[in-house]
Amino acid sequence: MNIALKAESINKYFYTPEKFQALENISFEVRQGEFVSITGKSGCGKSTLLYILSTMDTNYEGALHLNGQAVTGNKQNALAAFRNEHLGFVFQFHYLLPDFSCLKNVMIPAMRLGKFSREEIEYTAYEKLKMLGVEDQARKPASKISGGQQQRVAIARALINNPAIIMGDEPTGNLDSRNTAVVFDIFRQLAEEEHKTIITVTHDNDFAHKSDRIIEMMDGHIISHG
Ligand code: ADP
Ligand code: MG
Repeated sequence: MNIALKAESINKYFYTPEKFQALENISFEVRQGEFVSITGKSGCGKSTLLYILSTMDTNYEGALHLNGQAVTGNKQNALAAFRNEHLGFVFQFHYLLPDFSCLKNVMIPAMRLGKFSREEIEYTAYEKLKMLGVEDQARKPASKISGGQQQRVAIARALINNPAIIMGDEPTGNLDSRNTAVVFDIFRQLAEEEHKTIITVTHDNDFAHKSDRIIEMMDGHIISHG
């Protein structure tokens, strides 16, 4: 079984307003194709951890491996390229460009990757929107569709470069129960059918319990690996 993510003894400090240890000795592994939820009370360090796991925050102690590659200590531009190719992100707020069409929003990470022609990218983007059931919104500006539809477009965007690992920080935090179920089912399908690894921070107990495994945090520690 391939290991998609390995975190070894991660410690994280913040220095303002005073020195504070936000993460203490965080070690865990996630297998390829696993759908893992990270839970815990507000302020326990979930977002801080995800920010490190996503390679966005490089200011920590310990070691992180993603897809078998050691990423700790890599240069910022190498990390940006790694993220664009191997990681997909879904946040609580969709961060779509409001005036761009949904299709264009989904295309952007692939244009940045620069591996395929514009026509190929447009085709793939449309396929992703179809998979998410929002292909009929493709030509509309992202600001002119509903919240649930926006989150589906954001997921399509996260998938455009066919990332091995998808990370979410409260991806259903702004959705009603119907759209939450839609997003859950998409994650489940990506894990089962495409062996994508899903790592998502969530407050939603029902969502967490339906995933494969819950990693529970408290005060900067992992208290249960599920
Ligand atoms: P969660 O996502 O679980 O709600 P966070 O990871 O956002 O928690 O925060 C964990 C702890 O780290 C909290 O005590 C928070 O106040 C603190 N923290 C988060 N970001 C910063 C920062 N940029 N500077 C100082 N402290 C921070
Ligand atoms: Mg948070």
